[in-house]
Amino acid sequence: MASISLAGLTKRFGDLTAVNALDLEIRDKEFVALLGPSGCGKTTTMNMIAGIETPSEGQILFDGRDMRQVPPNRRKVGFVFQNYAIFTHLTVRKNLAFGLQVRGLPREEVERRVAAMAALMRLEDRLDWPTAKLSVNELQKVAIGRSAITEPEIFLLDEPLSNLDAAFRAFMRTELKHLQHQFQQTMVYVTHDQIEAMSLADRIAVMDLGVLQQYGSPIEVYNEPRNVFVANFMGSPSMNLVPCTLAGGDGRYALDFGEGGTAAVEDGELKRRCGAARDAALIFGARPEDLDIEPPGHTGPGIEATVTFVEPIGPRTIVHLSAGERRMKIAKGKHYGIALGAPVKAVLPPGKCHLFDAETGVALGLA
Ligand code: ATP
Repeated sequence: MASISLAGLTKRFGDLTAVNALDLEIRDKEFVALLGPSGCGKTTTMNMIAGIETPSEGQILFDGRDMRQVPPNRRKVGFVFQNYAIFTHLTVRKNLAFGLQVRGLPREEVERRVAAMAALMRLEDRLDWPTAKLSVNELQKVAIGRSAITEPEIFLLDEPLSNLDAAFRAFMRTELKHLQHQFQQTMVYVTHDQIEAMSLADRIAVMDLGVLQQYGSPIEVYNEPRNVFVANFMGSPSMNLVPCTLAGGDGRYALDFGEGGTAAVEDGELKRRCGAARDAALIFGARPEDLDIEPPGHTGPGIEATVTFVEPIGPRTIVHLSAGERRMKIAKGKHYGIALGAPVKAVLPPGKCHLFDAETGVALGLA
């Protein structure tokens, strides 16, 4: 058992609050990603969980036990950094064996576990190589294997894949998930890569400026962003966020997109949310894959726009649109073709629209 509970966790460096009153519950055997841009406090949070950094305020509990007085080496956590901290003068075998030997495990047990980890990490033919001869990809496999082999109840990984090339990163994502299934560990994984977080994590904690923005399953965070920051951070291309104002009354509402025209709000849920914010400045949000492209004047609710750029990216074609100052991207199929400069209507998808308060950035209905 190894659940982690962070309560009011705060870290200040002088005047800077790196982590601000963070509350987070991580279940036993859960894979949680701390996701956010550089400087948002991910590593500081990890370091506090590991015991490398002392919190300014707040609590860290492992299975309900306060970790304040427990030094890093007694917390039973494994830690892998971006810069593989491995012994470069030792072979792969000795690196893998190290953590088990210092724990005094019998030689046969060490050999068995080293062989199993080497097989899992596909390093069998490298076991007797000096690590100095390994590629960057292999070095990081050794670093992960060296920490995982001790089977810590809590495994902390800080951007472990960010130095690796793209193809190998994709491969390692799958391997890490296997590793977690095999060892049944609680994993906390720091990344600024939303694809990595989405593909690996059971839940994602999105952070910005030291503050937790949203905590939920990848699908929740993607489909129901709580604010503009999360909406914009998740997804590639990111969500279209288009300023608008709410026009209308007497139960009839329309989003006014300026040069993009006005769109009647047909969607029941949207109508309910709009009711709370009549005449307000809003930000309309829709995922690129959720908007449709129709001819101008189409009767559906939408935004009149012009095609400014067509970007084929393999599996999809990204169509860029402008409506005056407002910009949008719509994802279509891989063979989609449309002329530059063509007038179109970006039609709003019923049930898939988001509305945010333009001032606070918070999703309507959630404030
Ligand atoms: P990155 O992905 O770039 O590592 P991060 O989200 O992990 O970013 P942190 O490394 O936790 O962010 O840093 C959060 C903030 O705290 C940053 O502004 C950073 O400059 C600052 N910071 C981190 N460690 C220290 C320190 N030891 N002394 C002073 N400021 C620090």
